Amino acid sequence: MKKILLSLIVFCITWACFSQTQKNTYSLVLENASVVNVSTGKITYNRLLAISSDTIKAIDDTKNIKQYKADRYINLAGKFVMPGLWDMHVHFRGGEGLIQANKDLLPLFLSYGITTVRECGGDMTPSVMKWRKDITEGTLAGPRIFTSGPKIDGPKSTWAGSLEVETSEQVTKALDSLQKINVDFVKIYESKISRQTFLEIITQAEKRRMTTSGHMPYTVKLREAVDRGLDASEHLYYIFKACSSKEDSITHAIIQSERTAKPIGLFAALPSIYNTFDAKTSERLFRYLGKSRFSIVPTLFISKTLNEIKERDHSGDNLLSYIDPKIQATYAGRVNSAKRASDESTAFSKKYALKASSLIPQMQRRGINIMAGSDCGAYNAYVYPGESLHGEVKLLVASGLTPAQALQSATINGAKFMGVNEFYGSLARGKSSDLIVLDTNPLNNINAIDQIYMVISNGKAYSRVELDKLLTSIKR
Ligand SMILES: [Zn+2]
Repeated sequence: MKKILLSLIVFCITWACFSQTQKNTYSLVLENASVVNVSTGKITYNRLLAISSDTIKAIDDTKNIKQYKADRYINLAGKFVMPGLWDMHVHFRGGEGLIQANKDLLPLFLSYGITTVRECGGDMTPSVMKWRKDITEGTLAGPRIFTSGPKIDGPKSTWAGSLEVETSEQVTKALDSLQKINVDFVKIYESKISRQTFLEIITQAEKRRMTTSGHMPYTVKLREAVDRGLDASEHLYYIFKACSSKEDSITHAIIQSERTAKPIGLFAALPSIYNTFDAKTSERLFRYLGKSRFSIVPTLFISKTLNEIKERDHSGDNLLSYIDPKIQATYAGRVNSAKRASDESTAFSKKYALKASSLIPQMQRRGINIMAGSDCGAYNAYVYPGESLHGEVKLLVASGLTPAQALQSATINGAKFMGVNEFYGSLARGKSSDLIVLDTNPLNNINAIDQIYMVISNGKAYSRVELDKLLTSIKR
């Protein structure tokens, strides 16, 4: 009996020691941090965050630091910690010859604190899938990638690599192929897609429980698409059309015009939509979209950049030195069309952009999930990865969102859309340790997101010096 008791005691001591070391050994402990809760807009001070691999294992008061054994401690006194940023609209594209040029953009995202991107359709899906895997496995430095793979569009699509569909069978085939490569959502484009095909894609995707997001042909009314299960709208054009008191007759005229030699395009219809904007209609629409848990990616920064191309010389932009000349060469199309536009039409574009962005606080109040997205990537001139997402967040504040709301749009809202907010987008025990450390409080002044002191991505901490080294590696 004595022997049994003795071995039991020995076992208990060994177990206690073992569990003690287990419990208190972390790869990294951040101490004295001011932790920003983007959802509540509140800060808790003197926190310690104990991190192992890619997860926050504990958050506690720094005074209890003795209980937390770690391989490395970082003192963040005076610094502000918040979840890593999500850019919810980026592109990797430009064809075979631009694969490396696109891969070289990954460090640029990280250095601006962007720890996750949502890729909205391109023409190098196998490479993007490979990067997604390598980043997750920790063998490549870059933001986590969610991707739609190729876009779905109608025949003679605008963007290379798109899956062109017309019939219901083709839609089935396209969705089969996307599911087979395990895409994270379906991106629909609207260059040549018919009303019927567009709605068919949403209906079939909904049956498969695939998340859908899109541009939308102006022959479709937003509610028809949302009723069938469309989950998100990229850009504000499609929302704005549904705010017109004449949405029905304008849509009807556009459908009729498709049978003629002169179909009415999106931009041709915009002035009459602008002139018939109706506050009551928009209020009803936003309530409906809020109830439907609809998401919107306003992409204000790219509109502003393109609208100002005529008056701004970008040749001296610092960030150009981080963009492969082959990507820079793709900027010509957007630049030339912006320069060709009449002053009158540029003035209208600006007027429209201002009006559309002024609706954002009302969308927020009605419960629409607003997501910050830059639309950066090849072809989208001077919309640089990283900086453009910061620009987007600042424009969301300028439109009337609070800094906390704008930060939600660039963190937790994206995670909600991708269905991973249990793990990403907020800082708590058991959640992702993807985070950024800022020199000043972003809730007081949103420009604080420009001063990044440190980024933790996939369990690896990058100091400012290390981030700058990453940048140097891609500098041309
Ligand atoms: Zn885009």
